[in-house]
Amino acid sequence: MADTLKITEIPVEGYERVVRCEDPASGLRAFVSIHDTVLGPALGGLRMWPYASEEEALFDVNRLSRGMTYKSAIAKTGLGGGKAVIISDPSHKSEELYLAMGRFVDSLDGRYITAADVNTEVVDLEVIRRATRWVSGLDRKDGGSGNPSPYTAYGVYLGICEAVKWRFKEDSLRGRTVVVQGVGAVGWPLARRLTDAGATVYAADRNKERLADLATEVGVTPIEDDAVMGMECDVFAPCALGAIINDETIPKLRCRIVAGAANNLLLESRHGAMLVDREILYAPDYVINAGGIINVSEEFQQGGYNEDVALRHIERIPQALEELWGIAEEEKIPPSDAADRLAERILAKGPQCGSADSSSPPPASANDCGSGS
Ligand code: NAD
Repeated sequence: MADTLKITEIPVEGYERVVRCEDPASGLRAFVSIHDTVLGPALGGLRMWPYASEEEALFDVNRLSRGMTYKSAIAKTGLGGGKAVIISDPSHKSEELYLAMGRFVDSLDGRYITAADVNTEVVDLEVIRRATRWVSGLDRKDGGSGNPSPYTAYGVYLGICEAVKWRFKEDSLRGRTVVVQGVGAVGWPLARRLTDAGATVYAADRNKERLADLATEVGVTPIEDDAVMGMECDVFAPCALGAIINDETIPKLRCRIVAGAANNLLLESRHGAMLVDREILYAPDYVINAGGIINVSEEFQQGGYNEDVALRHIERIPQALEELWGIAEEEKIPPSDAADRLAERILAKGPQCGSADSSSPPPASANDCGSGS
């Protein structure tokens, strides 16, 4: 039987390939955006969202796939940037829909590798896998790397340690105060690591039951959601929502460092400069929260996924932060712009600089793949 997929190319300047797929039989309407595969095949999650229009979906998928290129470049995963979206309400999930999505992904011959994202889960990936092998982030029992969140939390924790070292010239978190906003899949294990390291942790979450459980289990102090921004602390670790660093919130901040897992923390890029004006050190979101993608990327290394190797690779996040803060100081630009600059330099240098040999320990100083132009 002939496939019912209708696949159309959409030329988008600056993108390697953007494709739209419609499948009347299953009701699938989706886009895959492959931004850049200079460093390797494009890996990025599949989002399901009831976009109001195709233009809105296309804008989102392209914005997200470009972000994945930059994130993977700095994380040295040996992968490029891509993303996929299905235009649908998540309540309309079906096996037919995901099988059609799998065939769509398969038609791209491995240039795009999919993973879970907003409103898609491992069970959905398992259906997609029946139609294509270009799927990552499956359960450990299925040969995948499993839930990425604890690895994201590990990377954020290491990034916070590095930020404290950079800002206060201190190697320990003992006696430091950290406010964690959102104690979900990432915030919870992060809060545990921080308290274990001797930090005093305050936490907020809309889910009061979860917050109370965390307080009992880990020993953090719960605070009200609206107290987060004005709370005096050393580190503010946003692990809930994006766009919370903006004109309204920056004047309220009483922290010395912003370093957390949430994506797209700055509402606009100019807010990076506003943090500098307030003498607040920023750990760019897509650099510090790369632990999850690094963990997934290890599925593609020779010999398959190995947790120890993944952890050694995540332990390079502090080095990337140190390097970009160095660029920010030298070139007198905000760290958020320095991160983009570092990613662009790695991309310009090509594959030999875009992957880490994670079997060896991180070098003590910045390597040739970074700040040199
Ligand atoms: P999650 O949904 O498991 O947790 C988010 C938590 O934030 C929930 O407990 C929720 O109740 C809480 N929350 C929502 N709005 C809040 C508010 N206004 N005030 C206080 N708490 C609020 O999500 P997650 O997987 O832990 O991810 C957290 C953030 O990190 C997201 O922005 C996500 O995009 C980003 N991120 C996650 C990963 C990962 O591996 N999970 C990787 C990279 C980036």
